Amino acid sequence: MKANLLQSVFAAVCLMTGITAGAAELAIPEAARARFSAIAAHPQVKAALEFIRKDDAKTLAEQKEIVVIPAPPFKEEVRAKDYHRRLVALGFKEARIDKEGNVIAVRRGTGNGPTLVVSAHLDTVFPEGTDLTVREKDGKLFAPGIGDDTRGLAEILSMVRALNATGIKTMGDIWFVGTVGEEGLGDLRGVKALFRDNKNIDGFISIDGPEAARVTFLAVGSHRYRVTFKGPGGHSFGAFGRPSAIHAMGRAIAKIADVQTPKQPKTTFTVGTVGGGTSVNSIAGNAVMELDMRSVENPTLLNVEAEILKAVNVAVTEENARWGGNAISVDIKLVGDRPAGVQSPDSPIVHAAVLGVTAVGLKPILDQASSTDSNLPISLGIPAVTIGRGGKGENNHAFTESFDPKDAYLGVQKNLLTTLALVGIEGVAEPMLLKR
Ligand SMILES: [Zn+2]
Repeated sequence: MKANLLQSVFAAVCLMTGITAGAAELAIPEAARARFSAIAAHPQVKAALEFIRKDDAKTLAEQKEIVVIPAPPFKEEVRAKDYHRRLVALGFKEARIDKEGNVIAVRRGTGNGPTLVVSAHLDTVFPEGTDLTVREKDGKLFAPGIGDDTRGLAEILSMVRALNATGIKTMGDIWFVGTVGEEGLGDLRGVKALFRDNKNIDGFISIDGPEAARVTFLAVGSHRYRVTFKGPGGHSFGAFGRPSAIHAMGRAIAKIADVQTPKQPKTTFTVGTVGGGTSVNSIAGNAVMELDMRSVENPTLLNVEAEILKAVNVAVTEENARWGGNAISVDIKLVGDRPAGVQSPDSPIVHAAVLGVTAVGLKPILDQASSTDSNLPISLGIPAVTIGRGGKGENNHAFTESFDPKDAYLGVQKNLLTTLALVGIEGVAEPMLLKR
């Protein structure tokens, strides 16, 4: 992406997010508005929206059923099987679990339309053995993962029920997908496989994020490393004079802490975890840290990465030099690689998402860049947005995560309108999403 285009995208985003009316600043072409309005005004679509409103309690009940099914990183199979079963029960003939573990259910269109993926992620950040019991207090639900992204999975099922109940025939195909590996070290393995194995996808929606009004269309790239320092170890008194793995790591962290990054494009880093050592009276023979670095631009990400990795190697050299010899070694392992990507807010998929939010009476918020399943398609130049879930989620990724279901159906209605506008309905409106 050229720097000047990037700057204008950022300027546009800042302008839009700086104003409370948010995406009102986005100049959506008349033709796009006309297509969207035709879809929204169609009697079958109106019936589907009404269906979704009445389906609110069922959707919430299903959300509560799904959240108690564990889905730790790399161990999503049980939830995947359950989700596949739920989709099959809704009548999908083409429903499968792919080799990576994604659940894919295909709803064929009438033809000549684009293929749109509508997805939510199956995995949670919570480890095996986490108590997933749902507790209710003051109208809110509490459970780890109750919003992120169990709500997204439940919203897809409600969308399917609404399409089934009203018999809406879209032009484009819709693939309803539950992805694996969205969180943490899952490293987007689900969407990576999805786009590696299916070259026919024209657009991608991820239903993820704590508020229905939010639309994310910029992708923060991240690289994550596990850095392991090794040395001879030994008694703190008797073997004094040997280099220490922890001291080497400390030197590295001190250097990393001083790395400078630009404000624009926003570029960040942190040493997220540390571990190592044997006992208080031992020279440490091992030390390990995990690092996260991010940027909305790949070149900047590569710059900060180079600086940090150099700091690690210099630290090892210094620790060895302090005591003489070269007993400390380091192993640097890339454990996360999420590509960055920018797309113009002036694209049909962003327009459709913004119009969807507006149509249900909410004020669209074009969000800052973040790291979601949409990173992968955006990095490939495939139109993609991450759109928020209905209701209000709080404390994502914490054991105290909560979900306020007030008017949550608005999120589902918004998802359906956006989806239908993108794939089109024959005789009503052409798809807003182009075939690639
Ligand atoms: Zn999520």
